[in-house]
Formats: sequence, structure tokens, C-alpha cells
Amino acid sequence: MRAEYGPAGSSGPVANWHIVRNDDLVAMCGRELDAAAPLQDAAHWTADPDRNCHTCGALYLRESPYLPDEHG
Ligand SMILES: [Zn+2]
Repeated sequence: MRAEYGPAGSSGPVANWHIVRNDDLVAMCGRELDAAAPLQDAAHWTADPDRNCHTCGALYLRESPYLPDEHG
């Protein structure tokens, strides 16, 4: 996940979280993100759903429809 800042830029709050592959600068939805924007593990995707990019969410869930089985 990589942050997208709002109108205030990197001094302001994070506006949206997008899904990126590794530390790519282009999100799954096609949006280019700032190289200085913070990264977060995709495990945090459910932590703040109101700020998730809906397009990234749909694409991400389609690619990873279920979580690994922890019970092995
Ligand atoms: Zn996105």
C-alpha cells in the first residue's frame, strides 16, 4: 500500500491508500503516487477502510480472494 496525499501535499493528511506491487509508484488503479509517500504493508488494508481506494480494493480482492489458511 502507498499513500496518496490530499491537496495539502506531503505536509497534509493521507487522503487515500492505494495498493502497489512491491514499492512501485503506480497503483493497481493506475494512479501515479509520490515516491516520498509512505508505504504500508497490505495487511493494514482493513485498518482504515474509509480511506482505501475503491478501485485498488476491488482489483486487490479479485487477485487475492482469500487469505492464506493459518491452520496449515
Ligand atoms: Zn488506487
